[in-house]
Amino acid sequence: MRVLVTGGAGFIGSHLVQRLLAEGNEVIVLDNFSSGLRDNLKGLPVELIEADVSAPFDIACDQIYHLACPASPVFYQRNGVGTLLTAFNGTYQALLNAERYKSRILVASTSEVYGDPAVSPQPETYFGNVNTWGPRACYDEGKRAAEALCYEFQTQGRADVRVARIFNTYGPGMRLDDGRVMTEFIAAALAGRPLRLDAAGEQTRSFCFIDDMVEGLMALMSFDGNPGPVNLGSADEVKLSQLAELVVAMAGSPSPIMQAPRRLDDPMQRKPDTVLATAVLGWRPQIKLAVGLEMLIRSIRKISTQ
Ligand code: NAD
Repeated sequence: MRVLVTGGAGFIGSHLVQRLLAEGNEVIVLDNFSSGLRDNLKGLPVELIEADVSAPFDIACDQIYHLACPASPVFYQRNGVGTLLTAFNGTYQALLNAERYKSRILVASTSEVYGDPAVSPQPETYFGNVNTWGPRACYDEGKRAAEALCYEFQTQGRADVRVARIFNTYGPGMRLDDGRVMTEFIAAALAGRPLRLDAAGEQTRSFCFIDDMVEGLMALMSFDGNPGPVNLGSADEVKLSQLAELVVAMAGSPSPIMQAPRRLDDPMQRKPDTVLATAVLGWRPQIKLAVGLEMLIRSIRKISTQ
């Protein structure tokens, strides 16, 4: 198949691209390299289109994985207006391209559509608790509006849409400078710097290893049906205080853990209800946190000593 991956130079995108190529697909990547890295695609036989996804494009393809969007607070808060426009207009352009070529499209949404949730775990039926007036709104509301657009294209019969609500994903290939908690902790531990723990580390997250996520995305793309948005993530919930201790121990680091105030609107709890993903896709993450963490620490240690 001829598969378009927007955001294919990013963390999740580049792992997905490698997997699609390994399965014999022809892959086109559309990316503006705002947070993605050229090195992520080095040596891969992809057709590369360097462009902004929110501008009109016309690319013949059978499938579209639409991932292009800044994903970490450091990047999405740099230009909040740009983030909103990418989330909405980018998804609109990707949906128009899917409509034009009758290609099935999978849109990357996020657990952030649930905001700071009042229920846990979060099922797809939960409408969320999101602040429209704060530093995370550009991302959270951008993705919510993008989902609404997907719903309209689907119900109007204009495109065959899948929506993945992706929960925290980690693994080799993540940038070390984009402020995501897993890489922040590991980079600090390896450098012997203090690990910054907000809100006494009482927040929970559920981390899914990248290989499991790629598997889930491909399973959702292949699913012949209309399940609506599907949560993809690990149900193994961990407090950030426990994660910090685990990282320090696994890295054999002398780093202290430093307490800091809670960041505005930072969700206190994140745990997907994955009943739907398991029922319709037969998918559940396989890689345990300690195993994935070991792989990530090893890869970051390698980069830091190069
Ligand atoms: P990433 O930042 O590594 O990748 C995003 C990619 O999109 C980058 O290559 C970037 O250059 C590209 N991009 C951004 N804006 C663009 C634009 N306007 N035009 C063209 N390309 C653009 O992030 P990621 O972690 O790989 O996330 C991929 C997708 O998954 C995003 O849509 C994100 O919202 C979603 N997601 C990720 C996570 C996670 O834990 N990694 C969780 C929830 C949702």
